[in-house]
Amino acid sequence: MAVQYANIIIDISHENVDRVFQYRIPKQMLSDVRIGSQVCVPFGAANRTRKGYVVGITQKADFDEARIKEVAGLVEGSVTADSRLIELAWWMKERYGSTMNQALKTVLPVKKKVRARNRQVLENLVAAQPRRPAPGDREICLNPEQQGVIEAFCQDYDGGRRKPYLIHGITGSGKTEVYMEMIRHVLARGQEVIVLIPEIALTYQTVMRFYDRFGENISVMHSRLSAGERYDQFEKAREGRTKIMVGARSALFTPFAHLGLVVIDEEHEGAYRSEGAPRYHAREAAEHLAEMSGAFLVMGSATPSLEAFSKAEAGIYKLFSLKTRASRGSALAVTEVVDLRRELEAGNKSIFSRRLTELIADRLAKKEQVMLFMNRRGYSSFVSCRSCGKAVKCPHCDVSLTLHNNRQLVCHYCGYKIPLPKACPGCGSEYLAGFGVGTQKVEEMAAQTFAQARILRMDLDTTSKKGGHEAILASFARGEADILIGTQMIVKGHDFPGVTLVGILAADVSLYAPDFRCTERTFQLLVQAAGRAGRGRRAGIAVIQTYLPEHYGIGAAAAQDYEAFYRQEMGYRQLMHYPPACHMLQLQVSGRDEQLTGHMMDLVRDSVVRHFGACLEVIGPVPAPVYKVNDIYRKILYMKQENYDILIRIRNYVQERWDETEDCKQLAIQYDFS
Ligand code: ADP
Ligand code: ZN
Ligand code: ZN
Repeated sequence: MAVQYANIIIDISHENVDRVFQYRIPKQMLSDVRIGSQVCVPFGAANRTRKGYVVGITQKADFDEARIKEVAGLVEGSVTADSRLIELAWWMKERYGSTMNQALKTVLPVKKKVRARNRQVLENLVAAQPRRPAPGDREICLNPEQQGVIEAFCQDYDGGRRKPYLIHGITGSGKTEVYMEMIRHVLARGQEVIVLIPEIALTYQTVMRFYDRFGENISVMHSRLSAGERYDQFEKAREGRTKIMVGARSALFTPFAHLGLVVIDEEHEGAYRSEGAPRYHAREAAEHLAEMSGAFLVMGSATPSLEAFSKAEAGIYKLFSLKTRASRGSALAVTEVVDLRRELEAGNKSIFSRRLTELIADRLAKKEQVMLFMNRRGYSSFVSCRSCGKAVKCPHCDVSLTLHNNRQLVCHYCGYKIPLPKACPGCGSEYLAGFGVGTQKVEEMAAQTFAQARILRMDLDTTSKKGGHEAILASFARGEADILIGTQMIVKGHDFPGVTLVGILAADVSLYAPDFRCTERTFQLLVQAAGRAGRGRRAGIAVIQTYLPEHYGIGAAAAQDYEAFYRQEMGYRQLMHYPPACHMLQLQVSGRDEQLTGHMMDLVRDSVVRHFGACLEVIGPVPAPVYKVNDIYRKILYMKQENYDILIRIRNYVQERWDETEDCKQLAIQYDFS
């Protein structure tokens, strides 16, 4: 066997990933030393023995051969939490095409110690929470469906069977109670648990339920924690002083020594995909981590991703269905579809259909609560010229500016801001007018139509200050408002027993997003939004307003029929060779120089086609959905292949040539696997 060298980090932390030391691996150790192994090495002038972790193995010495020392030995029982995280980093680097440094920086904590403020963060959350009876006062007796999952889990867990679970349970079917029961079982066996939730600020009720149940055993990885606070949380976990880590995506990298269970709530959520390199998906990374650690993986959703559900169908995950609402007397909301074309024909130009207006008035009279959901993404109010027809755009980005209440036009991509102009910047005409409906407009119109109603609004503008989410949600939960108006933020996981009506004002807007997942996303949003109604004893109604009642995504959401949706959508993905029917690599090249960007992208395409064309479907290059952001131009090439490994080979092939090309230094390249 050839001589091999190990790259070793002595003091394992995020800041030290660039400080690697190279050692020769002695022949007799070649088969034992792996990525993630903990080893002893002679260190410094005095050659004192230190422990370090192997983060890379190469056949090429980076220094003078004669000055490279040898690895002294393998540390006994050396598979630690850090070993597994380093191994996970290696896997992420390979699978998502990043550098090892980027991957290590993702999984290793920033080393900055501060006094623990976790208690205080939790106390702030507790203070914002309307008090519920403590868990002891309110015995929950699991229903037969929930019981079925728990029994299977306990048997599989104790029997060492580790096939992941997918719990497909309608909104309010008691999935969270099931997770908590599983966690109890795992803690009783002396093991530890990671619970991933999409975004803490939006799911504080869930966090509070965990806190109520498990008290001191729990730590929360909040997105607003400082690096030092995060480090403290991770240290507590490493030392076993905390048993359960609840948090967003990055909580997956908690260094528990005895990880027994990873729970992923709302598995379908987009927030589980990382935006920075490595562009990993937390579900996939969790699956790999669980496999390495011998831990269990449990995922739950009312609207599973096509990826997860197709794996369940293929028998890779074990599927459980919860089909009834858990809370006594609570039933799934009745849904009604309103065809907005008929409204226009009848002369109703309001954003509230006649039926929705009637129902809102009825709820207000009965002192019940209403939620109005406006899917603002792609439908914000922009300003356009009635003479030349052009919208007022951001000069740095390829998007229209959004009109805010203070008569400012704001770019939601780069923050560019100008006062509303008096005349069209293009043709000088004075006939500028606002189009589209944002949440602010909905609020104004609701206030006009229902003068006596108390209205709250929750969107980016009202929640930007610290604690904004919690304050608004808590106020609504206390019954201080009759109507809550909001974007995506209000549909996620909240449990307001007083809400008996949900109005979805424009169901179809998200169907037009330039993304093959847009129907899936629309379906998920509609089902989740409808799921907010009737969580208490009184029956709920969800009204879906749409111009496209015949669309299968809208129809299946109205019928709350996940499987019907899944069959239709899967058929479309198969026809079009989109994931999960096929794998796809999106390669993006970006740069300030538009010509060079386009030219290099064409070269990349040609060389990929020349080398891999025979076995590959290539689309593009095309401009990114938003071509220019912050004066940077972006082009995308799509490649589809059933075999993921071929896509990885393409990525490696492109990156090698990219690194050798001088012109590419002014550009950026990015890979996105799905
Ligand atoms: P999901 O996570 O599926 O949306 P939750 O676990 O939040 O569902 O449960 C919805 C509501 O039903 C909660 O208020 C919860 O306390 C209650 N609940 C859950 N399981 C039961 C049960 N077995 N008996 C009575 N109430 C339950
Ligand atoms: Zn004009
Ligand atoms: Zn901009």
